[in-house]
Amino acid sequence: MGQVDTTLFYMNLVLTVMWAFSWGVIGGAMKMAPNATARFCVANLLFAGTVALLVQRTAAPSYVHYQGVEWLVFMGLAAFHGGIIRLVRLGEMPTLARRISPILIAMVITLQVAPDSSSYMVRALVFSLTVAALSFNCFWDCLRGMRNDQFSATVRWAVSGPFLLATVAMLARAVLVLVEGPPAVEGNFVQIPNFTPFLWMLTVIVMSMNITMAGLTAGRLVKRFRSLAEQDHLTGCLNRAALEERFAIEFERARRTSEPVACVFFDLDHFKSINDRYGHEAGDHALCHAVKVAQVQLRSVDALGRFGGEEFMVLMPDTHLTHAREVANRIRVALEETPLHVQGMTIPLSASFGAAVLGPSESIAGVLRRADAAMYLAKRNGRNRVEVSLEKF
Ligand code: GH3
Ligand code: MG
Ligand code: MG
Repeated sequence: MGQVDTTLFYMNLVLTVMWAFSWGVIGGAMKMAPNATARFCVANLLFAGTVALLVQRTAAPSYVHYQGVEWLVFMGLAAFHGGIIRLVRLGEMPTLARRISPILIAMVITLQVAPDSSSYMVRALVFSLTVAALSFNCFWDCLRGMRNDQFSATVRWAVSGPFLLATVAMLARAVLVLVEGPPAVEGNFVQIPNFTPFLWMLTVIVMSMNITMAGLTAGRLVKRFRSLAEQDHLTGCLNRAALEERFAIEFERARRTSEPVACVFFDLDHFKSINDRYGHEAGDHALCHAVKVAQVQLRSVDALGRFGGEEFMVLMPDTHLTHAREVANRIRVALEETPLHVQGMTIPLSASFGAAVLGPSESIAGVLRRADAAMYLAKRNGRNRVEVSLEKF
Protein backbone atom coordinates (compact mmCIF):
# COMPACT_ATOMS: atom_id res chain seq x y z
CA MET A 1 0.00 0.00 0.00
CA GLY A 2 1.42 3.36 -1.03
CA GLN A 3 1.80 6.44 1.13
CA VAL A 4 -1.20 8.18 -0.52
CA ASP A 5 -3.37 5.12 0.04
CA THR A 6 -2.45 4.93 3.71
CA THR A 7 -3.23 8.64 4.13
CA LEU A 8 -6.55 8.13 2.37
CA PHE A 9 -7.37 5.19 4.61
CA TYR A 10 -6.73 7.18 7.77
CA MET A 11 -8.58 10.19 6.40
CA ASN A 12 -11.59 7.94 5.75
CA LEU A 13 -11.33 6.47 9.21
CA VAL A 14 -11.40 9.92 10.79
CA LEU A 15 -14.21 11.18 8.54
CA THR A 16 -16.50 8.18 9.01
CA VAL A 17 -16.01 8.26 12.79
CA MET A 18 -16.78 11.99 12.75
CA TRP A 19 -19.93 11.34 10.72
CA ALA A 20 -20.99 8.56 13.09
CA PHE A 21 -20.49 10.94 16.01
CA SER A 22 -22.44 13.72 14.25
CA TRP A 23 -25.35 11.40 13.41
CA GLY A 24 -25.33 10.22 17.03
CA VAL A 25 -25.61 13.84 18.23
CA ILE A 26 -28.29 14.71 15.63
CA GLY A 27 -30.44 11.69 16.47
CA GLY A 28 -29.56 10.98 20.09
CA ALA A 29 -29.16 14.41 21.64
CA MET A 30 -31.13 16.58 19.23
CA LYS A 31 -33.81 13.93 18.59
CA MET A 32 -33.99 14.73 14.89
CA ALA A 33 -35.35 11.74 12.93
CA PRO A 34 -33.81 9.36 15.52
CA ASN A 35 -34.78 6.14 13.69
CA ALA A 36 -33.07 7.24 10.51
CA THR A 37 -30.05 8.96 12.05
CA ALA A 38 -29.30 5.97 14.32
CA ARG A 39 -28.95 3.86 11.15
CA PHE A 40 -26.69 6.44 9.49
CA CYS A 41 -24.57 6.40 12.65
CA VAL A 42 -24.29 2.59 12.57
CA ALA A 43 -23.54 2.67 8.82
CA ASN A 44 -20.61 5.04 9.34
CA LEU A 45 -19.28 2.97 12.25
CA LEU A 46 -19.36 -0.08 9.96
CA PHE A 47 -17.51 1.89 7.26
CA ALA A 48 -14.97 2.98 9.89
CA GLY A 49 -14.60 -0.66 10.97
CA THR A 50 -13.95 -1.60 7.37
CA VAL A 51 -11.11 0.89 7.10
CA ALA A 52 -9.67 -0.11 10.47
CA LEU A 53 -9.55 -3.76 9.38
CA LEU A 54 -8.19 -2.96 5.92
CA VAL A 55 -5.12 -1.17 7.25
CA GLN A 56 -4.31 -4.29 9.27
CA ARG A 57 -4.59 -6.61 6.26
CA THR A 58 -1.50 -8.74 5.62
CA ALA A 59 -0.68 -11.47 3.14
CA ALA A 60 -1.75 -14.06 5.74
CA PRO A 61 -5.12 -15.70 5.05
CA SER A 62 -7.88 -14.22 7.22
CA TYR A 63 -11.64 -14.29 6.78
CA VAL A 64 -11.93 -11.19 8.97
CA HIS A 65 -9.45 -9.13 6.91
CA TYR A 66 -10.61 -10.29 3.46
CA GLN A 67 -14.26 -11.41 3.26
CA GLY A 68 -15.17 -9.78 6.60
CA VAL A 69 -14.06 -6.34 5.43
CA GLU A 70 -16.28 -6.61 2.36
CA TRP A 71 -19.28 -7.81 4.36
CA LEU A 72 -18.94 -4.83 6.69
CA VAL A 73 -19.33 -2.50 3.68
CA PHE A 74 -22.48 -4.40 2.62
CA MET A 75 -23.95 -4.13 6.11
CA GLY A 76 -23.04 -0.45 6.26
CA LEU A 77 -24.88 0.18 3.01
CA ALA A 78 -27.88 -1.85 4.19
CA ALA A 79 -27.95 0.26 7.37
CA PHE A 80 -27.75 3.41 5.23
CA HIS A 81 -30.63 2.11 3.11
CA GLY A 82 -32.68 1.45 6.28
CA GLY A 83 -32.01 5.03 7.38
CA ILE A 84 -33.08 6.46 4.02
CA ILE A 85 -36.33 4.46 4.06
CA ARG A 86 -37.15 5.94 7.45
CA LEU A 87 -36.02 9.46 6.62
CA VAL A 88 -38.15 9.72 3.48
CA ARG A 89 -41.05 7.84 5.15
CA LEU A 90 -41.42 5.38 2.32
CA GLY A 91 -45.04 4.16 2.30
CA GLU A 92 -44.56 0.50 1.43
CA MET A 93 -41.31 -1.04 2.55
CA PRO A 94 -39.10 -2.57 -0.14
CA THR A 95 -39.26 -6.37 -0.02
CA LEU A 96 -36.85 -8.19 2.23
CA ALA A 97 -35.60 -10.02 -0.87
CA ARG A 98 -34.52 -6.76 -2.50
CA ARG A 99 -32.93 -5.52 0.70
CA ILE A 100 -30.87 -8.48 1.85
CA SER A 101 -30.61 -11.00 -0.98
CA PRO A 102 -27.61 -9.21 -2.62
CA ILE A 103 -25.77 -9.54 0.71
CA LEU A 104 -26.69 -13.18 1.23
CA ILE A 105 -25.68 -14.13 -2.32
CA ALA A 106 -22.36 -12.27 -1.91
CA MET A 107 -21.71 -14.03 1.42
CA VAL A 108 -22.42 -17.49 0.01
CA ILE A 109 -20.16 -16.92 -3.01
CA THR A 110 -17.24 -15.34 -1.13
CA LEU A 111 -17.27 -18.12 1.49
CA GLN A 112 -16.38 -20.57 -1.30
CA VAL A 113 -13.08 -18.86 -2.07
CA ALA A 114 -9.80 -18.54 -0.17
CA PRO A 115 -9.57 -15.74 2.46
CA ASP A 116 -6.50 -14.17 0.87
CA SER A 117 -5.37 -12.29 -2.25
CA SER A 118 -5.55 -15.37 -4.50
CA SER A 119 -9.34 -14.93 -4.67
CA TYR A 120 -9.05 -11.26 -5.71
CA MET A 121 -10.94 -11.59 -8.99
CA VAL A 122 -14.01 -13.30 -7.50
CA ARG A 123 -14.12 -11.04 -4.47
CA ALA A 124 -13.57 -7.84 -6.47
CA LEU A 125 -16.39 -8.78 -8.86
CA VAL A 126 -18.81 -9.83 -6.13
CA PHE A 127 -17.93 -6.74 -4.08
CA SER A 128 -18.47 -4.32 -6.95
CA LEU A 129 -21.77 -5.88 -8.06
CA THR A 130 -23.14 -6.15 -4.52
CA VAL A 131 -22.24 -2.57 -3.65
CA ALA A 132 -23.84 -1.50 -6.97
CA ALA A 133 -27.08 -3.35 -6.06
CA LEU A 134 -27.16 -1.93 -2.52
CA SER A 135 -26.39 1.61 -3.72
CA PHE A 136 -29.14 1.29 -6.29
CA ASN A 137 -31.56 0.34 -3.50
CA CYS A 138 -30.56 3.54 -1.69
CA PHE A 139 -30.94 5.62 -4.85
CA TRP A 140 -34.30 4.18 -5.87
CA ASP A 141 -36.00 4.40 -2.49
CA CYS A 142 -34.59 7.87 -1.84
CA LEU A 143 -35.93 9.17 -5.16
CA ARG A 144 -39.29 7.41 -4.69
CA GLY A 145 -39.69 8.44 -1.06
CA MET A 146 -38.89 12.10 -1.58
CA ARG A 147 -41.87 12.37 -3.93
CA ASN A 148 -44.13 12.04 -0.85
CA ASP A 149 -42.61 15.17 0.63
CA GLN A 150 -43.24 17.15 -2.55
CA PHE A 151 -39.62 18.17 -3.01
CA SER A 152 -38.85 19.54 -6.47
CA ALA A 153 -37.37 17.17 -9.06
CA THR A 154 -34.02 19.01 -8.88
CA VAL A 155 -33.77 18.51 -5.12
CA ARG A 156 -34.82 14.85 -5.40
CA TRP A 157 -32.19 14.09 -8.02
CA ALA A 158 -29.50 16.08 -6.22
CA VAL A 159 -30.08 14.16 -2.98
CA SER A 160 -30.45 10.71 -4.59
CA GLY A 161 -27.65 11.40 -7.10
CA PRO A 162 -24.66 10.21 -5.02
CA PHE A 163 -26.25 6.76 -4.72
CA LEU A 164 -26.76 6.54 -8.46
CA LEU A 165 -23.18 7.70 -8.91
CA ALA A 166 -22.03 4.91 -6.58
CA THR A 167 -24.08 2.37 -8.54
CA VAL A 168 -22.61 3.41 -11.88
CA ALA A 169 -19.08 3.62 -10.49
CA MET A 170 -19.31 0.13 -9.04
CA LEU A 171 -20.73 -1.35 -12.24
CA ALA A 172 -17.86 0.32 -14.12
CA ARG A 173 -15.39 -1.18 -11.67
CA ALA A 174 -16.88 -4.66 -12.20
CA VAL A 175 -16.33 -4.23 -15.93
CA LEU A 176 -12.79 -2.93 -15.33
CA VAL A 177 -11.93 -5.92 -13.14
CA LEU A 178 -13.10 -8.26 -15.91
CA VAL A 179 -11.30 -6.35 -18.67
CA GLU A 180 -7.99 -6.03 -16.83
CA GLY A 181 -7.93 -9.67 -15.73
CA PRO A 182 -5.95 -11.03 -12.75
CA PRO A 183 -3.68 -8.35 -11.24
CA ALA A 184 0.06 -8.66 -10.64
CA VAL A 185 1.13 -10.51 -7.52
CA GLU A 186 3.98 -9.13 -5.45
CA GLY A 187 5.14 -11.86 -3.10
CA ASN A 188 1.90 -13.06 -1.62
CA PHE A 189 0.18 -9.68 -1.99
CA VAL A 190 -1.99 -8.52 -4.89
CA GLN A 191 -1.19 -5.16 -6.50
CA ILE A 192 -4.73 -3.89 -6.95
CA PRO A 193 -4.83 -1.86 -10.18
CA ASN A 194 -5.96 1.78 -9.99
CA PHE A 195 -6.25 1.46 -6.23
CA THR A 196 -5.68 5.14 -5.41
CA PRO A 197 -8.39 6.50 -7.76
CA PHE A 198 -10.69 3.77 -6.42
CA LEU A 199 -10.06 4.93 -2.85
CA TRP A 200 -10.64 8.55 -3.85
CA MET A 201 -13.92 7.55 -5.45
CA LEU A 202 -15.06 5.72 -2.30
CA THR A 203 -14.11 8.74 -0.19
CA VAL A 204 -16.11 11.12 -2.36
CA ILE A 205 -19.12 8.79 -2.46
CA VAL A 206 -19.23 8.19 1.30
CA MET A 207 -18.87 11.93 1.96
CA SER A 208 -21.55 12.97 -0.50
CA MET A 209 -23.97 10.30 0.81
CA ASN A 210 -23.58 11.68 4.32
CA ILE A 211 -23.77 15.32 3.29
CA THR A 212 -26.93 14.88 1.21
CA MET A 213 -28.60 12.88 3.99
CA ALA A 214 -27.71 15.60 6.50
CA GLY A 215 -29.26 18.12 4.10
CA LEU A 216 -32.38 15.99 3.77
CA THR A 217 -32.70 15.63 7.54
CA ALA A 218 -32.53 19.40 7.95
CA GLY A 219 -34.82 19.96 4.95
CA ARG A 220 -37.46 17.68 6.41
CA LEU A 221 -37.33 19.54 9.71
CA VAL A 222 -37.73 22.90 7.98
CA LYS A 223 -40.73 21.55 6.07
CA ARG A 224 -42.28 20.28 9.28
CA PHE A 225 -41.82 23.61 11.06
CA ARG A 226 -43.17 25.48 8.07
CA SER A 227 -46.29 23.34 7.89
CA LEU A 228 -46.78 23.66 11.67
CA ALA A 229 -46.44 27.43 11.39
CA GLU A 230 -49.06 27.48 8.64
CA GLN A 231 -51.57 25.26 10.42
CA ASP A 232 -54.51 26.15 12.57
CA HIS A 233 -53.71 24.11 15.67
CA LEU A 234 -57.31 23.00 16.33
CA THR A 235 -58.64 22.03 12.92
CA GLY A 236 -55.46 21.38 10.93
CA CYS A 237 -56.50 23.65 8.05
CA LEU A 238 -54.47 26.77 7.24
CA ASN A 239 -54.34 29.58 9.77
CA ARG A 240 -55.16 33.17 8.93
CA ALA A 241 -51.56 34.28 8.34
CA ALA A 242 -50.91 31.39 5.93
CA LEU A 243 -54.15 32.06 4.13
CA GLU A 244 -53.26 35.73 3.69
CA GLU A 245 -49.82 34.76 2.42
CA ARG A 246 -51.42 32.36 -0.07
CA PHE A 247 -53.82 35.09 -1.16
CA ALA A 248 -50.92 37.49 -1.77
CA ILE A 249 -49.31 34.90 -4.08
CA GLU A 250 -52.59 34.30 -5.94
CA PHE A 251 -53.11 38.06 -6.15
CA GLU A 252 -49.79 38.51 -7.97
CA ARG A 253 -50.55 35.62 -10.28
CA ALA A 254 -54.00 36.98 -11.07
CA ARG A 255 -52.46 40.36 -11.96
CA ARG A 256 -50.07 38.67 -14.41
CA THR A 257 -52.46 36.17 -15.97
CA SER A 258 -55.85 37.91 -15.55
CA GLU A 259 -57.21 34.63 -14.18
CA PRO A 260 -60.13 35.12 -11.78
CA VAL A 261 -59.50 34.44 -8.08
CA ALA A 262 -62.52 33.70 -5.92
CA CYS A 263 -62.84 33.75 -2.17
CA VAL A 264 -65.66 32.33 -0.11
CA PHE A 265 -66.26 33.21 3.53
CA PHE A 266 -68.37 30.95 5.68
CA ASP A 267 -69.42 31.18 9.29
CA LEU A 268 -71.13 28.42 11.28
CA ASP A 269 -74.70 29.30 12.21
CA HIS A 270 -75.71 29.74 15.84
CA PHE A 271 -72.39 28.34 16.92
CA LYS A 272 -72.63 29.99 20.30
CA SER A 273 -75.70 27.90 21.09
CA ILE A 274 -73.79 24.70 20.14
CA ASN A 275 -71.17 25.64 22.72
CA ASP A 276 -73.87 26.53 25.24
CA ARG A 277 -75.95 23.39 24.72
CA TYR A 278 -73.34 20.70 24.13
CA GLY A 279 -70.22 22.18 25.70
CA HIS A 280 -67.06 23.82 24.42
CA GLU A 281 -65.43 20.46 23.61
CA ALA A 282 -68.32 19.48 21.32
CA GLY A 283 -67.95 22.96 19.77
CA ASP A 284 -64.29 22.19 19.02
CA HIS A 285 -65.31 18.87 17.43
CA ALA A 286 -67.85 20.76 15.32
CA LEU A 287 -65.12 23.07 13.98
CA CYS A 288 -62.93 20.09 13.00
CA HIS A 289 -65.94 18.35 11.47
CA ALA A 290 -66.80 21.42 9.37
CA VAL A 291 -63.23 21.55 8.04
CA LYS A 292 -63.29 17.85 7.06
CA VAL A 293 -66.66 18.18 5.33
CA ALA A 294 -65.56 21.31 3.43
CA GLN A 295 -62.16 19.91 2.44
CA VAL A 296 -63.76 16.99 0.59
CA GLN A 297 -65.54 19.42 -1.73
CA LEU A 298 -62.37 21.29 -2.71
CA ARG A 299 -59.66 20.80 -5.32
CA SER A 300 -56.05 20.43 -4.24
CA VAL A 301 -55.29 23.95 -5.53
CA ASP A 302 -57.95 25.49 -3.31
CA ALA A 303 -56.89 26.66 0.14
CA LEU A 304 -59.13 26.35 3.17
CA GLY A 305 -58.26 28.33 6.25
CA ARG A 306 -59.68 29.39 9.58
CA PHE A 307 -60.02 33.14 9.67
CA GLY A 308 -60.91 33.23 13.33
CA GLY A 309 -63.44 31.70 15.73
CA GLU A 310 -65.99 29.75 13.67
CA GLU A 311 -65.33 31.69 10.49
CA PHE A 312 -63.50 30.11 7.55
CA MET A 313 -62.31 31.18 4.14
CA VAL A 314 -61.75 29.25 0.93
CA LEU A 315 -59.38 30.71 -1.65
CA MET A 316 -60.01 29.38 -5.15
CA PRO A 317 -57.55 30.21 -7.92
CA ASP A 318 -58.76 30.32 -11.52
CA THR A 319 -62.41 30.30 -10.45
CA HIS A 320 -65.32 32.42 -11.69
CA LEU A 321 -68.11 33.63 -9.43
CA THR A 322 -70.67 31.09 -10.72
CA HIS A 323 -68.33 28.23 -9.92
CA ALA A 324 -67.44 29.70 -6.52
CA ARG A 325 -71.15 29.90 -5.74
CA GLU A 326 -71.60 26.24 -6.79
CA VAL A 327 -68.72 25.08 -4.59
CA ALA A 328 -70.03 27.13 -1.66
CA ASN A 329 -73.43 25.57 -2.11
CA ARG A 330 -71.91 22.08 -2.27
CA ILE A 331 -70.16 22.67 1.04
CA ARG A 332 -73.39 24.09 2.49
CA VAL A 333 -75.42 21.02 1.45
CA ALA A 334 -72.71 18.60 2.61
CA LEU A 335 -72.59 20.29 6.01
CA GLU A 336 -76.36 20.20 6.34
CA GLU A 337 -76.48 16.54 5.35
CA THR A 338 -73.60 15.43 7.59
CA PRO A 339 -74.45 16.22 11.21
CA LEU A 340 -71.74 15.79 13.83
CA HIS A 341 -71.91 12.64 15.97
CA VAL A 342 -70.05 13.20 19.19
CA GLN A 343 -70.36 11.81 22.73
CA GLY A 344 -73.49 9.89 21.72
CA MET A 345 -75.18 13.09 20.51
CA THR A 346 -76.14 14.14 17.01
CA ILE A 347 -75.51 17.83 16.44
CA PRO A 348 -76.92 19.38 13.25
CA LEU A 349 -74.67 21.99 11.64
CA SER A 350 -75.15 24.66 9.04
CA ALA A 351 -73.23 27.66 7.80
CA SER A 352 -73.80 30.89 5.88
CA PHE A 353 -71.63 31.65 2.84
CA GLY A 354 -70.51 34.77 1.00
CA ALA A 355 -68.56 34.62 -2.27
CA ALA A 356 -66.70 37.28 -4.27
CA VAL A 357 -64.21 37.40 -7.14
CA LEU A 358 -61.22 39.73 -7.12
CA GLY A 359 -61.81 42.69 -9.44
CA PRO A 360 -59.14 43.81 -11.96
CA SER A 361 -58.15 46.86 -9.92
CA GLU A 362 -59.28 45.71 -6.51
CA SER A 363 -57.12 45.17 -3.41
CA ILE A 364 -57.11 41.98 -1.35
CA ALA A 365 -58.72 43.86 1.54
CA GLY A 366 -61.43 45.05 -0.85
CA VAL A 367 -62.49 41.61 -2.03
CA LEU A 368 -62.33 40.20 1.51
CA ARG A 369 -64.63 43.00 2.65
CA ARG A 370 -67.13 42.17 -0.12
CA ALA A 371 -67.08 38.42 0.60
CA ASP A 372 -67.58 39.16 4.30
CA ALA A 373 -70.47 41.51 3.51
CA ALA A 374 -72.05 38.83 1.30
CA MET A 375 -71.75 36.35 4.16
CA TYR A 376 -73.50 38.77 6.56
CA LEU A 377 -76.20 39.21 3.95
CA ALA A 378 -76.65 35.42 4.00
CA LYS A 379 -76.99 35.61 7.80
CA ARG A 380 -79.59 38.36 7.52
CA ASN A 381 -81.48 36.49 4.80
CA GLY A 382 -82.08 33.53 7.09
CA ARG A 383 -78.70 31.65 7.40
CA ASN A 384 -77.77 28.26 5.84
CA ARG A 385 -77.54 29.92 2.42
CA VAL A 386 -75.06 31.35 -0.11
CA GLU A 387 -74.91 34.99 -1.23
CA VAL A 388 -72.51 36.48 -3.77
CA SER A 389 -71.10 39.95 -4.20
CA LEU A 390 -71.81 41.05 -7.75
CA GLU A 391 -70.08 44.42 -7.71
CA LYS A 392 -67.50 44.88 -10.46
CA PHE A 393 -64.21 46.75 -10.04
P1 GH3 B 1 -74.27 33.40 13.88
O1 GH3 B 1 -75.19 32.38 13.30
O2 GH3 B 1 -74.79 34.76 13.74
O3 GH3 B 1 -72.90 33.28 13.33
O4 GH3 B 1 -74.21 33.10 15.44
P2 GH3 B 1 -73.02 32.50 16.23
O5 GH3 B 1 -73.53 32.03 17.54
O6 GH3 B 1 -72.35 31.47 15.40
O7 GH3 B 1 -72.03 33.72 16.34
P3 GH3 B 1 -71.32 34.43 17.54
O8 GH3 B 1 -70.30 35.31 16.93
O9 GH3 B 1 -72.36 35.07 18.45
O10 GH3 B 1 -70.62 33.28 18.36
C1 GH3 B 1 -69.48 32.66 17.94
C2 GH3 B 1 -69.06 31.72 19.01
O11 GH3 B 1 -67.98 30.90 18.56
C3 GH3 B 1 -68.60 32.41 20.25
C4 GH3 B 1 -67.32 31.71 20.64
O12 GH3 B 1 -67.36 31.28 21.97
C5 GH3 B 1 -67.28 30.52 19.74
N1 GH3 B 1 -65.95 30.14 19.40
C6 GH3 B 1 -64.97 30.88 18.82
N2 GH3 B 1 -63.83 30.15 18.69
C7 GH3 B 1 -64.08 28.91 19.21
C8 GH3 B 1 -63.31 27.74 19.40
O13 GH3 B 1 -62.15 27.66 19.02
N3 GH3 B 1 -63.91 26.66 19.97
C9 GH3 B 1 -65.21 26.72 20.37
N4 GH3 B 1 -65.73 25.63 20.92
N5 GH3 B 1 -65.95 27.81 20.24
C10 GH3 B 1 -65.41 28.91 19.67
MG1 MG C 1 -71.39 31.97 13.63
MG1 MG D 1 -68.61 34.44 13.67
